[in-house]
Amino acid sequence: MHKYTHILPADAGLLTGRTIMAGPCSAESREQVLTTAEQIARRGMADIYRAGVWKPRTHPGCFEGIGVPALEWLAEARIVTGLPVATEVAVPGHVAAAAEVGIDVLWIGARTCANPFAVQELADAIASYCPQTPVLVKNPVSPDLELWIGALQRLQRAGVAHLGAIHRGFSVYKSAPYRNAPIWQLPLELHRRFPSLPLLHDPSHTGGSRDHIAVLSQQALDMGFTGLMIECHTDPSSALSDGGQQLTPDSLFNMLSALKVRSGDVPDRILQGLRGQIDDIDNQLLGLLARRMELSDSIGECKRRADMPVVQTERYSRLLTSLVGRGVELGLDEAFLAGLLERIHAESVRRQLEIVSH
Ligand code: PEP
Ligand code: MN
Repeated sequence: MHKYTHILPADAGLLTGRTIMAGPCSAESREQVLTTAEQIARRGMADIYRAGVWKPRTHPGCFEGIGVPALEWLAEARIVTGLPVATEVAVPGHVAAAAEVGIDVLWIGARTCANPFAVQELADAIASYCPQTPVLVKNPVSPDLELWIGALQRLQRAGVAHLGAIHRGFSVYKSAPYRNAPIWQLPLELHRRFPSLPLLHDPSHTGGSRDHIAVLSQQALDMGFTGLMIECHTDPSSALSDGGQQLTPDSLFNMLSALKVRSGDVPDRILQGLRGQIDDIDNQLLGLLARRMELSDSIGECKRRADMPVVQTERYSRLLTSLVGRGVELGLDEAFLAGLLERIHAESVRRQLEIVSH
């Protein structure tokens, strides 16, 4: 994936320079699709109007979308509002039907993205029915960056011209406080590797509650995301899917109006000075880490000579507890520090295992 074209409109919505996609989780009725679209468009909230026509529901028997008739409502919404319209496709038949009515933007959902066979079939269908239609790929449900990139690559190789990604958080058993854990480092790594790939955040499916949408949206903008996809329903309490995470058009307007796009990019002297100090510390950390690994290798040699096992669980556990305790006193986050120390220890163990086996 070397080249992307910035194809997503980013100047009609409230946040200039950022692509805002908004609309209901599901297209439920012609009236709902048209009223919501009209309210979103009237106050210039969004660049793209979204609505799910086929819904991937966890349990059977839930509302699974209206299907093909709802595509006509979306096409009508585009004519009435002038907004491009978007929907989710999960199988080649969806692509054919969406192409037939000229849906402007397609997205691939989190569950579909997790299945390379399904993505390949979709990629081939999109390349054959509508290769110029922009396709946004949601992250897979599991925190697997390569699987996400692999899906984008399948689309690109098949000949889909315009791609983007949507971060919607990752499934974690009993995730809290959000429905899906954001694990921001994954989308940030995607952005680092493919800086020109449009990257949207979906605070609705990440947060799982309308209360989290403002905070997540602002965080995403502050981390350089190029847009947001947000669910919006005229009466969330009667929504047929995802009622608790949808905003009314009024609250969407207020939320978007309160967001800040921070665009300053000239670092002042204080910032430059602080960055210089951080760079120094990072260099010292590297030196210390390298020195620590050398010592650990020597310990590995001793263990090999003494025929000792590599891991002494009791010592490791004692060290971990006391270091985390001291770190917390110094103001470091407990989970962060525990993760860091575990990572360092795992690397020491890996190196020592090699040494004792020689
Ligand atoms: C959606 O956007 O309506 C949707 C089903 O999202 P996800 O694939 O992220 O669960
Ligand atoms: Mn939804």
